[in-house]
Amino acid sequence: MKAELVSVGTEILMGQILNTNAQYISQKLAELGVDIYVQTTIGDNHDRLAQCIREGLERADIVILTGGLGPTADDLTKETAADVMGMKLEFDEASLHTLKVRFAAMHKDMTPNNLKQAMFPKDCIIMANPNGTAPGCIMERDGKAVALLPGPPKEMVPMFENHLMPYLQKRSGHILYSRVMRIFGKGESQVEYAIRDLMARQSNPTIAPYAKTGEVTLRVTAQCKDAAEGEALVEPVLAQIQEIVGDVVYATHDEELCEVCVKLLKQAQRTVAVAESCTGGMLSSMLVSVPGCSDCFIEGAVTYSNQAKTARLGVAEKTLAGFGAVSEETAREMAEGLRKTSGADYALSTTGIAGPDGGTADKPVGLVYVGLATPEGTKVAKLSLSGARERIRHIACLNALDMLRRALIEQ
Ligand code: ATP
Ligand code: MG
Repeated sequence: MKAELVSVGTEILMGQILNTNAQYISQKLAELGVDIYVQTTIGDNHDRLAQCIREGLERADIVILTGGLGPTADDLTKETAADVMGMKLEFDEASLHTLKVRFAAMHKDMTPNNLKQAMFPKDCIIMANPNGTAPGCIMERDGKAVALLPGPPKEMVPMFENHLMPYLQKRSGHILYSRVMRIFGKGESQVEYAIRDLMARQSNPTIAPYAKTGEVTLRVTAQCKDAAEGEALVEPVLAQIQEIVGDVVYATHDEELCEVCVKLLKQAQRTVAVAESCTGGMLSSMLVSVPGCSDCFIEGAVTYSNQAKTARLGVAEKTLAGFGAVSEETAREMAEGLRKTSGADYALSTTGIAGPDGGTADKPVGLVYVGLATPEGTKVAKLSLSGARERIRHIACLNALDMLRRALIEQ
């Protein structure tokens, strides 16, 4: 199936807003396996827009438009599309009712121009807009279709996902079924190299790598008739990848590292506490972002100064004086100290130089120690990270979580 995209709005044409809708829709169409060869941006002008829709319909099965569905005079997408399709707009009672209810709920008076948002060609498919006043619609004629989506992304995206995507899937006779595998501890190029044979052979499912900060995700996508067929196609590929890349794979259902840790902690009925210096609460925040972490997360201590490391965690003054706050010894004492006072089964610690200042030849920016105290003993990892402050802090957290994950798997 071929689609064309038309972004409507003089604002886009003049560079006043960035056309993020086009990027979003194009990505989704590619994922859906719908071909898109032409994209147009056009101002709020009836004749030029009409010509654009007409031309699009000659080349493609469906022309998707965003923008210009609002109540004002320059919002003329629906009127223009109906003209091209040879259709008349009339009141749709259900949409009129929804519009009235919506205005009443907002305690706003409806002006006459709002009414046009409840007008549609008789047999079109109306797409509800719970996030705004203008519904979208799909007009069909002679095997071709025009789909209208609102301009504001927070209205357009849910409408696309809930209405247009199922429509496109139905029309193209297939759905796309994906699962996302997440990997920590190998870079994108290492992963790609390891699975190069598998990737070269791929057709259905396809394997697409994406690098995220500090980790790699692989999306395995099958074109299929339903989810059961998709799962049957995708699962063996995920298993093959896992066999090749090994225990750096931490999730096969797109879970975050923190989610995996919370799940493993709950399964093992174990608890964790974290003592953070350079990550300054980020590690605690990641854990707390997981619903239900109260079953296993005891506390997080942000011990930034030497004084706090000593008073709160019991790090020896001579350790700090002798080895420095950023050292294996300090990371070890931080984790062990917090494990004792918190009563948690596991305690993580982070201490490092996140930059941009504060680095020395001995201890450069990006040097981070991550500690883990467990019932079996304490481990400390030395990391040499690169990049900006936030990235260093983020990757330090991921390393801490991965240490915890591995300890939980090994136990
Ligand atoms: P409204 O009811 O708000 O008028 P509309 O469907 O008529 O919505 P437009 O008037 O074309 O849409 O655009 C409204 C706003 O939506 C723009 O000011 C802009 O913020 C956003 N918008 C429109 N088109 C795009 C686009 N292609 N990409 C990103 N944002 C967009
Ligand atoms: Mg508008």
